[in-house]
This record gives sequence, structure tokens and C-alpha cells, in this order.
Amino acid sequence: MSMRFSYSHSLPLVFLFVFCSIPTILTRHNEDPTAKTMHDFSGYPVDEPPHSFISNSLSVDAQTLQKQINELSTFSDTSSPSVTRVLYTEKDVLARRYIKNLMGLAGLSVREDAVGNIFGRWDGFEPELTAVATGSHIDAIPYSGKYDGVVGVLGAIEAINALKRSGFKPKRSLEIILFTSEEPTRFGISCLGSRLLAGDVALAKALKTTVDGQNISFLDAARSAGYARDEDNLSSVFLKKGSYSAFVELHIEQGPILEEEGVSIGIVTAIAAPASIKVDFEGNGGHAGAVLMPNRNDAGLAAAELALAVEKHVLESGSVDTVGTVGILELHPGAINSIPSKSHLKIDTRDIDEKRRNVVIQKIHESAITIARKRKVTLSEFNIINQDPPVLSEKSIIEAMEAASKELNLTQKFMISRAYHDSLFMARISPMGMIFIPCYKGYSHKPEEYASTEDIANGVKVLALTLVKLSLH
Ligand SMILES: [Zn+2]
Repeated sequence: MSMRFSYSHSLPLVFLFVFCSIPTILTRHNEDPTAKTMHDFSGYPVDEPPHSFISNSLSVDAQTLQKQINELSTFSDTSSPSVTRVLYTEKDVLARRYIKNLMGLAGLSVREDAVGNIFGRWDGFEPELTAVATGSHIDAIPYSGKYDGVVGVLGAIEAINALKRSGFKPKRSLEIILFTSEEPTRFGISCLGSRLLAGDVALAKALKTTVDGQNISFLDAARSAGYARDEDNLSSVFLKKGSYSAFVELHIEQGPILEEEGVSIGIVTAIAAPASIKVDFEGNGGHAGAVLMPNRNDAGLAAAELALAVEKHVLESGSVDTVGTVGILELHPGAINSIPSKSHLKIDTRDIDEKRRNVVIQKIHESAITIARKRKVTLSEFNIINQDPPVLSEKSIIEAMEAASKELNLTQKFMISRAYHDSLFMARISPMGMIFIPCYKGYSHKPEEYASTEDIANGVKVLALTLVKLSLH
């Protein structure tokens, strides 16, 4: 409450006047006595861009927002400070209800689609124009924290509330989206909601037969949460390209850079995208003592050699933006006195440059073939599980975010999102941008995840002002 900025009760009328009649004011205010009165009355020059009024009067209620973040974190299957909120569970449904209620209190019209993406819309004064959207997710992987995703949903609601308090009226409608299942926890599919919004036909089809670890089908789970009543119609979720004129997501950085450098706002210029590869080698195995070294074809050593090759090929790209990780390496039968007869690797490689990343994938594939030949093992599987293209933020949105943070006198830094987000998929149907705020030591996906109330409030202000600019655009 202490951050609330008091203003004259008549000020909203001033804004309404300014926004509805900008062309008139800009052309006539010098000779128009009414305009002069407005100038004197408001204390601001009327020919300044309208957003400067907003940046001066924007009051983010940081304490209430923090209270909401804390409340939402109690919808969890594990005890505080950890948060566990998995898709379509009882806690997820309760958390969704909490968000829909806040959207309603903010005066937004709320709708949900067949998989539970939730939309809260504030109609602009030119509602026929394509809307500007913002949003994020509220699902949380087991034993994680309370800020990942949540800041971009509750923060967006507070951004709208702050704009309403300031008297702002959007030209383009503003819409908040809560995306279903950004985390892959339950069905192994990340960004499920935003992938579908972006029109992923293969996913819509695959979901008809997808089951979770308990063999509960996606559709049954969705139905238990009140969604997917018409199981053949997941394509109803698809949005047309151009459904939004812009999409902006506010998110904690999930990395240490902003905090280390003491910078308030990260302006994301690109989102790196992962490719995931599954590799299996097979050899003859055998007794660790009895089979002599020249006679072995050790599937474990093939895997070890490929893991080092992944590192080599990634480093050869010459860019720090290329990364590669062998996060899973399993050996069969997994006994100290047995030569591995099977090995299984899962490789994640990411870049902001799709071509460069695909070169790395190609080299990893060639190495796998060479290593198999040299070690006389079989390369029984080399499967690229997914290969999402990375995306760049839209220039006009970057400019809007930059201008917003400058008007608010906040320090800022251009950066790359190395984790991926719903924004990666929204970029397929809308120009996209992301705002990062610092988080403690870059921690995420664990209970220690933390962002200060002040940093969150700064992010919400930048989001609000960015929405203003994009709405009037
Ligand atoms: Zn997230």
C-alpha cells in the first residue's frame, strides 16, 4: 500500500479526454482554450506522449501483489516453502479458480478453452483491433518455488489494475492469458497450452492417446478439471496467426545475471530453443573379468565417447550461445562386474541460431555413427525427439519495453532467455517480447526461488507501461 500514488479523483477524466481526442489536442491545443485549461489542470503538458501521464501516475500495489503470490503458493501438494502444483490436480483447479476470481475482480471478461488456457480481456475503445496479450503459467514442478510463471500472471492482473486506477483506457483490448501446463511434469509435454494455441496439429492428435505415469489419459484428467468436454475438438484451442498484435511475458530471469549486475529489468531479445536427442548403443556385454579388452564392444564406452563429442561439437560452434548437455546416461545391466551391453543417452542442445544448432545435431549424429563403427557396437537408436526453432523478439516490442523501463528510470539490460517459455510458442502466432526481473542467485525450480517485492513491482510497472504503448500502437 505504501507504494500507492495518490492522485486527483478527476484525473481519470483527463486521461479519457487525452486518449480519445489526441489528434484534436495535438493539432489545436495552442489556440484552444479548453486544451490550455486541461494543461493547467493536469499539471502536465498535453502534447507529451500520453504514456508519460501513465508513467507518472502508475501505482503498483506491491504489497497486495506479494500477498496474492503468497496465497497462490498455498495451493500446493507439498508444504511451504516448496510449491508443487501439477496440471489438472485438485490444487491446480483451486489455483485456477483463484486467478479467475482476481480476473473478475479486475473487471476482465473471462473465458477458458478446451484445455484450460484462461483468458481475461479488458476491452479497448477500439475493440475491433487485434488485442495485445500478456501472461504466463501457474503450474509448478514438484518441490519448486512460488515465482516462476506466477509473477507473469498475478503481475499482469496487477498491471491491469494499476492502469485502471490511473484512468488509462486502452485502444486495443488487453488480454491476460494463463497458459495450461508450461511444465512437462504430468504428461511429458512442456508448454502444452501455448503449443496448442499456436496450432500444433500433431500435438492435438497425440493428446487423444497421451497418458500420465498413473495411466490416466490426458482427456480424462482434463475432464476431471472441467475441460475437454468434446474430446474430438482440441483443435478448437488453436488461434489464428495474427490473433494478437503483440504478446509480452513478464518472468523471473531464472539466471543470476540481473542480480549480479544490479540491473532491474532484462529485455529479452531472443529465446534459445532446445533440441532433444535420444541415443541407444548396443554391444555384447560380458563378464568384467573374463572378456579381454581387444574382444570387447562396450556400449558404455561408446556412450562416454559420444558425451565428450557433444561437448566438442558445441564448443566448435564458436558461440557462447551454443550449449549442449548429456543429462541422462544409463548403462545396462548396471553391475560393477558386467560390461555394459546397452547404453542410453539423452542429449539437450540449445542455441538462439537454429542453423548453428542444427549443425551441432548433425555433427553429433555423425559422431554417433563413427563411434559405433569404431567400437563395433550398434547404434540402435538416434532419435531427435523435438527440435523447436528459437525465436527473436519483435523489434517494436523491444523498443516499447526499453522505452517503458527508461521512462520509469529503471536500469535495464538486453539479454537472451536461455530457458524457454510459452512466449517461444506464442511467437508463432504473434509478435513477441519478454521482460525479465532479477531473482535470488538465479535459483528456480526449487523452494529457494525468490524475487523481491520491489523487483516484482518494477517488472509490473514496465509491463503496464509496455502494454500502454502497444495498446495505443
Ligand atoms: Zn516459467
